[in-house]
This record gives sequence, structure tokens and C-alpha cells, in this order.
Amino acid sequence: MSEALQQTDWRRHREWLIGRQPIRDCLKCQSCDKEVGPGSAFCPTCGTKLQAGDLGYGENVLALIRGSTQPGLAKMTQFDLFVTPARLVAAKIGQDSSSVSGSLGELFLKGIELAASHAERKAAREKHRPLTLDQILKANKANRSIPFQAITKLELYQGAFGTKIKIQTESEKTSYNVGDLQLETLKRVLPSIPALTGKLVGK
Ligand SMILES: [Zn+2]
Repeated sequence: MSEALQQTDWRRHREWLIGRQPIRDCLKCQSCDKEVGPGSAFCPTCGTKLQAGDLGYGENVLALIRGSTQPGLAKMTQFDLFVTPARLVAAKIGQDSSSVSGSLGELFLKGIELAASHAERKAAREKHRPLTLDQILKANKANRSIPFQAITKLELYQGAFGTKIKIQTESEKTSYNVGDLQLETLKRVLPSIPALTGKLVGK
């Protein structure tokens, strides 16, 4: 049997295999082109709102960005950042340790811990789903509302884990780490008021 023939046979077999696969509902995010599961209100990769109209939350949520804060070197707190035309609402969804070094045993435990924190985040999101943003704010002391009007300075810093957004208001400073695609979404939905045009460092 010649090599060319073998190749053709293999290709035909592959085509047959592909053809046998159930037709999936291939929903793609218009913004980042990544596949999204059915029923998602926001793209899990970039945070863009996928469904038209009112999603609940008592306010017009334009995007849901995943962010994290790092209170200590080995600790990380995960937040969902709801962006509306008027404010940003940060809702705590979980906490995990972020160290990546360790023995195999430690890494194994780490895997369990990560799976647990993934479940924790999922549960927190589900809990937030039927609430309004005001109810979400009351649900946890770590949650906060940052009205755009109150922001005096907004800065972006490129780091090893994505971008750090430093938000300064009259009364406090907060910062969140976000991924690159999430940052693009954030830039798109933030109102272009002068107070929000912070400096972009190191990119
Ligand atoms: Zn997307």
C-alpha cells in the first residue's frame, strides 16, 4: 500500500469521525471569539454581556469582569466586578492561596484546593444571580460599590498576572487584577469621563 493512499484513508476516516460527532450548539462570543456555554449571561473569558435586555440585578449590568485582589503574597481574593453605566460593584466570590511552588504532595493538595475554590466561586455566582446589586453589596462586608463619579484617579499597571487597576476615590484606594481580555472589555464599557483616563504604565 502506498503512503499516499494510507494518508487518504486516514483522512477519510477522520472526516467520518468528525461527521459522527453530535452537532453542538457552537455559541461564540462576538467580542473575543471564544466558545461560550449555552445560557451564559456573560462571556466567561472576556466578561462581555451576551444576552440582550434586562438580566436582573436591578441595574443595567454592561459587563461582568473577573478580578482579584492580593492582600498577602500567598493569598488571593476573587471578585466578580459588575460594571454598570454609573458604577462598579465588586462582589467577593472566593479566596484561595496563590503559591505555585511545593512538593508533589503539596501540589496534589493544591489541586484539590483549586477544585474546591472553583466550586466555591460557582456557588457564590449562583447565589448572586437572583439578587440586585444593592442586595449583593449588603451580603458581604468585602463587597463594595465604586460610583464612577467618586473616582479621582484610575491607573493601569501591567504585571505578571495581567493588569492591575488601581482605583482611587476621595475616601479609599482599591486595586484589582484582571486578565487582558477582561481589561479590553472594561475599557469598552467604562464611561469616557476625564476622571477615568488614568495612565497606562509599562505597555
Ligand atoms: Zn468573550
